[in-house]
Amino acid sequence: MSSRISGPIPARRAAAVTTLLLAVLLSGCSGSSGGSGGKQASGAPSPRTEPTAPASPSAAPDAAAYRRWGLDKPLAAPPAPPSAKLTDGLKPGAAPKVIRRVPTNDKVVFLTFDDGAEKDPEFVKMAKDLKLPFTMFLTDDIARAGSGYGYFEQLRGEGNRNTINNHTLSHPNLRTLSADAQRREICGQQDVLEKRYGGKPPLFRPPYGNYNDATLAAAGGCGVKALLLWEVTMQINDMRYAQGDKLRPGDIVLAHFRGPSELKGTTMTRMVTNMLRSIERQGFTVARLEDYV
Ligand SMILES: [Zn+2]
Repeated sequence: MSSRISGPIPARRAAAVTTLLLAVLLSGCSGSSGGSGGKQASGAPSPRTEPTAPASPSAAPDAAAYRRWGLDKPLAAPPAPPSAKLTDGLKPGAAPKVIRRVPTNDKVVFLTFDDGAEKDPEFVKMAKDLKLPFTMFLTDDIARAGSGYGYFEQLRGEGNRNTINNHTLSHPNLRTLSADAQRREICGQQDVLEKRYGGKPPLFRPPYGNYNDATLAAAGGCGVKALLLWEVTMQINDMRYAQGDKLRPGDIVLAHFRGPSELKGTTMTRMVTNMLRSIERQGFTVARLEDYV
C-alpha cells in the first residue's frame, strides 16, 4: 500500500495520507453508517417524454473486448436517456437534490467509484475497451497521492463523458464538523476541481454517506446540484444491497478505486468484472448517471 503513496510528496504529508488511507480502507464509504444516515432522497418520478440521443454516440465495444475482460457477452446497450434531468431547473445556490436511487423503470444501474487510492493502469485499458460509463467522486488528499489526478483524467473517456466530482478535501465525517469546516471541505474541493477542469463539478458525495443541513447549505453555496448517495455497494466478489437481495432499476452502485492490498489480492479490474457479471446476470445494464441527474 505504501507504494501508491510514494510519489513526490513530503514525508509528513505522506504519513498523513497513509493514516487517512488506512481509515478510509477500513471503513470505506460503505460502513454500517453508509447510506443509512441523513435524509431520504426525494422520490420524484423521472420525467420521461421524447428520448434524446445519447451524449456520445460511439460504436459499441465488440464481444471480443468483453471476453478479454472475462465477460461472456456484451452488456446490453442502455436505453435512450430521459429528456429532462433530475437537477433541471434548480436555482443557483439552492440546496442540492439528494439522490439515493435514480427514479426510472429502465433496467439500468449506475456505477460510481470513490476516493481515488488505487491507480491501476489496467483499469484505464478496461474502461476504454468496454467504453464503460461511470462517475468518479475524488477526495483531494487521496487522489493527488502517487500519480495524482492525471490517472483519473485518463478515465474520463470520449468527450469526457465520465465526470470527476467532489468527495471533499480530506474525507471527514461531515456530520462531526461545523458549518464553516464543512464549507472548507466541500467548497475547497470544488475549487481544486474547478482549477483543473474549468468548471465546478455538479455532483457531490459525502464521505460515509453522512451529511446534515449544513452540508446541503455548503454544497449548494458552491455550485453542487446533487448529493449522490447509494443503496448498493460492490464488495470484492458480490454486491451488498441496502434493501432486498438484488438490483432494482435506477440503483446507484458504490465501488472504490481499490487494489490487491484492500481487495484481499483481487485486482481492481477483476472486481469490476465481478460487478459487471452480476449486473448482467440480473438482466441489467450500465447507464451514464450524468444523463439522468
Ligand atoms: Zn469515500
